[in-house]
Amino acid sequence: ARESLIQSERLNTISELSASVSHEIRNPLTVSSGFLQLLNQSKTIQPSDKRYVDLSLLEIKRAEKIVTDFLSLAKPQAENMVRSNLEEEFVYVNNIMSPFAKMHQVELNYTFDNSITLTYDKNQMQQCLINLYKNGIEAMKENPGTLIVEAAGRGDAITIRIQDEGVGMTKEEIARMGKPYYSTKDKGTGLGMVVVYSTIYKLKGRIHVESEKGRSTTFHITIPGTE
Ligand code: ADP
Ligand code: MG
Repeated sequence: ARESLIQSERLNTISELSASVSHEIRNPLTVSSGFLQLLNQSKTIQPSDKRYVDLSLLEIKRAEKIVTDFLSLAKPQAENMVRSNLEEEFVYVNNIMSPFAKMHQVELNYTFDNSITLTYDKNQMQQCLINLYKNGIEAMKENPGTLIVEAAGRGDAITIRIQDEGVGMTKEEIARMGKPYYSTKDKGTGLGMVVVYSTIYKLKGRIHVESEKGRSTTFHITIPGTE
């Protein structure tokens, strides 16, 4: 019993487990897709075989997307539940998302001014922010612009603003966002916003979405501080 207690302390939350599982899944996926690409470049490969290889590569891509949106790009943390001001999470997410922004010629405009502390799950918070950044950047795929990210401590809550200059949404589209598998993207997972809403609601926070079709979308998130 003592040993199992130690075990459960080692991986004390589901999200910590999912963060480490995602790292374990990512490696074999990367290796497999590397070998399949090599096979695809072979001079002796038959066209019919090449088709199977291409299909396998697409399926691997799909699995990678699900890991990215749902399972987590978050760092497995030793101390998963923390009481802090979110700064470390924003810094981490800025770091891992800036190559993606650059790739899409999106400028990241980030400001942080918050001293209000909350109690939250680090992995889950990172995953939530990653999905918001990712959606904002993807919305500007055709028309690169600026992604504004602002976190500010006001009164007894922290407010987060994530604003893009992307494709925007209609009222109906806003209402459907966050339903599992709802996606308007060619190869979307429809899982990113599920994580966003559940993370914020768990913290008794609120999300307000302001959007104009064809122009921009702003997520206003308010999360109360905790004692
Ligand atoms: P995915 O990104 O895989 O499509 P998400 O759950 O992350 O899944 O998002 C669901 C849908 O919500 C997207 O397909 C898109 O239609 C809409 N959406 C989310 N964020 C934005 C945004 N910033 N601008 C425009 N549409 C968005
Ligand atoms: Mg998404």
